[in-house]
Amino acid sequence: MKMGLAPVMVAEVAENKLTCALEFPILTQRKAAEKKIHFLSQIYSAQSLTNQALIECKDEAMLFNRICQIVVEFGGMELAWIGVNEEETGRINPVAAFGEKIDYLDNIVISSRQDVPEGLGPSGIAFRERRSVFVQDFKTDPKLANWRQRITKFGWGSSGTVPILRTDQSYAVLAFYHTEKQIFTDEVIDLLNEMARNIGRSLDRFDLEAAKIKFHESMQLAATIYQSSVEAIMVTDENNLIIDVNPAFSKLTGYAQEDVLGKNPRILKSGKHDKEFYQEMWQSLLNDGHWYGEIWDRRKNGELHVKQTNISVIRNPDGSIYRHIAQFFDITDRKQKEELIWKQANFDTLTKLPNRHMFHNRLEEEILKSQRAGLPVALLFIDLDRFKEINDTLGHDKGDILLVEAAHRIKMCVRITDMVARLGGDEFTVILPEFGERLHLERIVQDIINELVKPFDLGNVNVGYISASVGITIYPNDAEDIASLLKQADQAMYSAKEEGRNRFNYFTPSMQMEAKEKLGLTNDLRHALARNELHVYYQPILDMHTGRITKAEALLRWKHPTRGMVSPVVFIPLAEESGLIHEIGNWVFQQAVAQVAKWHRLCGYIIQISVNKSPVQFEYHDEKVWQTQMKELGVPGNGITVEITEGLLLKESTKAKEQLLEFRNSGIEVSIDDFGTGFSSLSYLKQFDIDYLKIDRSFVKDLEKSKDDKALTEAIIVMAHKLGIKTIAEGVETEAQRDLLKSFGCDYVQGFLYSPAIPAAEFETMIIDGVMC
Ligand code: C2E
Ligand code: CA
Ligand code: CA
Repeated sequence: MKMGLAPVMVAEVAENKLTCALEFPILTQRKAAEKKIHFLSQIYSAQSLTNQALIECKDEAMLFNRICQIVVEFGGMELAWIGVNEEETGRINPVAAFGEKIDYLDNIVISSRQDVPEGLGPSGIAFRERRSVFVQDFKTDPKLANWRQRITKFGWGSSGTVPILRTDQSYAVLAFYHTEKQIFTDEVIDLLNEMARNIGRSLDRFDLEAAKIKFHESMQLAATIYQSSVEAIMVTDENNLIIDVNPAFSKLTGYAQEDVLGKNPRILKSGKHDKEFYQEMWQSLLNDGHWYGEIWDRRKNGELHVKQTNISVIRNPDGSIYRHIAQFFDITDRKQKEELIWKQANFDTLTKLPNRHMFHNRLEEEILKSQRAGLPVALLFIDLDRFKEINDTLGHDKGDILLVEAAHRIKMCVRITDMVARLGGDEFTVILPEFGERLHLERIVQDIINELVKPFDLGNVNVGYISASVGITIYPNDAEDIASLLKQADQAMYSAKEEGRNRFNYFTPSMQMEAKEKLGLTNDLRHALARNELHVYYQPILDMHTGRITKAEALLRWKHPTRGMVSPVVFIPLAEESGLIHEIGNWVFQQAVAQVAKWHRLCGYIIQISVNKSPVQFEYHDEKVWQTQMKELGVPGNGITVEITEGLLLKESTKAKEQLLEFRNSGIEVSIDDFGTGFSSLSYLKQFDIDYLKIDRSFVKDLEKSKDDKALTEAIIVMAHKLGIKTIAEGVETEAQRDLLKSFGCDYVQGFLYSPAIPAAEFETMIIDGVMC
């Protein structure tokens, strides 16, 4: 930049000096006054030009240069410069200057700090103390000690330094120099201070404008991002009604802006999330101000899609909700890919069953659960017999069809909570957590075996015949780790193969024996009826008031050809499990009805016989058959009582309820067996119109010793009577028990004190002889 001092002014100053020395004092004073006025007017015009520059200049650099120029060219100064403080170093660096003697600034060091000599001059003071500093005589002012040499060289008479503030902080200084001493009058000083203040205001204005521009730019940027973002954006108001959506939103959802404005985002709902999901989302929005997660929604065309969603709440200064901003992008494709990868890693592609990897994970999980719950887990190892032959003779395609069908059949035999996996080839495994009773487990295994032995339709009139050998291991009984469990299941499966295939085998020898024995016994039971091995025995039931036999309980006996007497406690569960109970139960009933008829003829009165009816019998039973039998033999309804367990009343089965009502209608009475050992619900007793309660043997047994049992037995009797139900005490073995029961008002007694269950013929003698009749 070209800098120079107007030559005219130099001449003027020089001339003034000259005349001053020669004039008379009055003249000198007048001249001096004129000079002051002249200078004041110069400063005035400099100030007004500065004000103009403040309006015209668009940036700081331009403004500073113009000011320096104005101060010199119009304000009559020799040199003017502006220095800006560098915060880090505390140096005040000249950034603009004007005047011929600009080299005054060469290598000059000025500081804003108080602790260095360079900071003790007018600029340092003006900056630090935020006030203007005027030096009226350069030669004598102590503030200039440091610069004296320089000043002498440049011949300044006086100087002024004014601070320039920016947002109320010292920012820079403006310094100017005059050749004359004592030049700055109060008016001039006021004007210069005013000028400095105006410069500061102008800088503030620059800052404000810069901030405005920046804000405007960032708003524009935000708008551009909003419009062009690949992320869908939806803005809702405080009531969660949509007030804006961007083009990406429309692209993703298929809804145009006008479709959704004013609506609740609920319109996107897929129905795939439950109430709790949305409740948790709102909770987190209200508590934390944001929510991040995956949401399944529906497009306008109904298509489901999943999106990664980020919702933020924007609040007003008073804390109330201003806006909700939801940003999301479609991750359906990614999800599907992930799912595919996951499926490939965990599922067998042919049968779609879990593979070895997933089987291991699940077994591990079930073992942990079992440890917590203390319930065993069964593991089945299934190997298809003769599968290789199918593959070799009919080809792999047919083999594959068979495997898929076999997988399906196995799955149909288990619950959804059980897991069927394919380990490879023709090997399958099943994990059965909480399988319940062993008998139940065996039934499942037998079902699988039965299903797999059925012919397989392999297409093109090809039929495949295979069977399955199954090994069973139980955690934690047989082994405690996966590897050993698998090994043992495999061994058990092999021994099933060795024993002729199409069967199952336990790993544990004792279990294996037990299972075999049960299987054998069940098989024997199938023929027991035909071979006349089953007999119905009768145990007398006495009326407490008269001491006479008025009733009897029909109790089954099995005289096994090799095992001798087998207890019903052992074979009734087998009969229930195998379904034989229906046939056996009907036979017992028939015998009982015939017996009632016979004893009626013999004694002339009805000895009512109670028949035990298992809950399983209620599942299929047609009660009309029993009624017909009774009618045929002329036995009235009250000739028979049906003994049921409490559990049956609690069952949701309508079949059982219908049958109980049917009994009621035909006059057949109903007893609750083993009362007090189960649920013992009074409301049910009332509801089903029960006739008798049979107080369980366990109460009667300790009647003499146990206060509690005594109290309970008495309570049961009192309660039953209140409900219009009669009581029968079971298992009465002593006279003391009988006496106590009598004192409680018990109606009937049954037990070894009188007689065990005996064959019908013996029973007859007993009544004919009038023993206890
Ligand atoms: P339950 O219905 O509780 O039958 C009473 C059992 O107690 C009978 O055992 C009987 O012999 C025994 N008992 C009778 N008095 C005394 C006594 O003073 N002391 C002792 N310690 N025991 C006594 P049993 O005959 O072995 O029958 C056992 C269970 O088998 C029966 O229990 C019943 O649940 C079932 N059962 C027997 N026959 C049949 C039947 O035909 N059908 C069905 N579904 N279950 C039957
Ligand atoms: Ca009974
Ligand atoms: Ca009983």
